[in-house]
Amino acid sequence: MNKTTELYSGKAKTVYETDSPDHLILEFRDDATAFDGTKKASLARKGAVNNQFNAFIMTQLQTAGINTHFVEQRSANESVVKRLAMIPVECVVRNIAAGSICKRLGLEEGQTFAEPIFEFFYKDDALHDPMINDAHILAFQWATADEIEQMKQLTLAVNNILKPLFAEAGILLVDYKLEFGRFHGELVLGDEFTPDGCRLWDADSGEKLDKDRFRRDLGNVIEAYEDVANRLGITLT
Ligand code: ADP
Ligand code: UDP
Repeated sequence: MNKTTELYSGKAKTVYETDSPDHLILEFRDDATAFDGTKKASLARKGAVNNQFNAFIMTQLQTAGINTHFVEQRSANESVVKRLAMIPVECVVRNIAAGSICKRLGLEEGQTFAEPIFEFFYKDDALHDPMINDAHILAFQWATADEIEQMKQLTLAVNNILKPLFAEAGILLVDYKLEFGRFHGELVLGDEFTPDGCRLWDADSGEKLDKDRFRRDLGNVIEAYEDVANRLGITLT
């Protein structure tokens, strides 16, 4: 499959059209951003590490029965995916308190919830990704009631697959964000699952192994991503 025109360049990936109308190529770049794109850096190896990390996770999810957009890895930092009409919402599941929920509800970081918490956010950096609920999604016709239910069920199903996968590697899956889209009318998991879009803590030391290292200037960001990849058995090239 060959790249034709550049469709979109986001904060961390560039999306290309291909000679197949149903497929896109995602190029994972070395760019790192935080705080709605206001903090920026280039981190060597990030694109390749995240592309290979994502390929591994998407393959695990596909094998476990989740319909994903992932088709194949094309090179160290590119993958072929199904072309989706993206739904402009972020689906977040939280197992342990961290990030925005701590500010919003006055929680201490690290509290484990009795049940995983599901939240929707509107994907809009200029508005700082505000939290929304089902009523907004229906009123703005971003998705149907059935699609809303599927997004919730699928995002929670991913938790049941990935929490044990990370636990076996001695890592706590604290929270994560997923994005969905439509492929010929079918709801499909898109975008990525990498340490850029989730929180991962070492189960023994509590050390942060995700993008919070970049957000908080903790250093060794990509070294931590590589450590997680190695612990999951991913062979990075
Ligand atoms: P952002 O847009 O948040 O800055 P990225 O740099 O990761 O993010 O850009 C990737 C863009 O591609 C995102 O807007 C994402 O919604 C979109 N995308 C991801 N997977 C697909 C897909 N399979 N089909 C179409 N668009 C996709
Ligand atoms: N997240 C993301 N992209 C976003 C917002 C959140 O990937 O635009 C991820 C984030 O990395 C974390 C989870 O979703 O794993 C929950 O994020 P939170 O709402 O706590 O926001 P944050 O404080 O991280 O901005």
